Amino acid sequence: MTTHEEIDLKRYIRNIPDFPKPGILFYDISTLLRDADAWQLAMGRVARQVAPWQPDILAAVESRGFLTAAPLADRLGCGLLMMRKPGKLPGETISHTYDLEYGSDTLQIQADAVKPGQRVVVMDDLLATGGTLAASVALLRKAGANVVGASLLVELTGLGGRNKLDVPVKSLLSYE
Ligand code: AMP
Repeated sequence: MTTHEEIDLKRYIRNIPDFPKPGILFYDISTLLRDADAWQLAMGRVARQVAPWQPDILAAVESRGFLTAAPLADRLGCGLLMMRKPGKLPGETISHTYDLEYGSDTLQIQADAVKPGQRVVVMDDLLATGGTLAASVALLRKAGANVVGASLLVELTGLGGRNKLDVPVKSLLSYE
């Protein structure tokens, strides 16, 4: 029988070249999600990394951040808020627009999602250039949050994304 400690989680992340466009090597977490033992192990490890930050609420980045944040909020006994593309959230929202290599993108949260001073940890599946997470942190601060950390399953260290962030960053698996 394989024990949890023997599982090499990197084996469960599939690489798909040229997706979604030529030149991009896509790190696919679907293969991790669909394996019950590997996913439980991954969530246990992420929970141990995030727990010391004592978050009141996890901020999940659309869409794969939802997948990591929901089980983690349940494990840690904290809340969850969704950071979404424009037009998806009902009621009053707060937005933040940020530059991409070509063009720009916007993230939104519900205006009453965070209480001032609440301890928030941002969750996404992967850190590449850091643009998405930096924008997420800026948006949460607009709403009055105390952003205490960012948690990822995968970090592409060669792109230096964590240098764009002024909060502590923890990732489960790193790739050059
Ligand atoms: P970035 O803003 O450059 O740090 O990109 C992070 C966001 O884009 C995350 O929401 C990821 O899901 C997605 N992403 C960027 N690059 C990749 C990649 N090589 N494989 C999978 N997802 C990626």
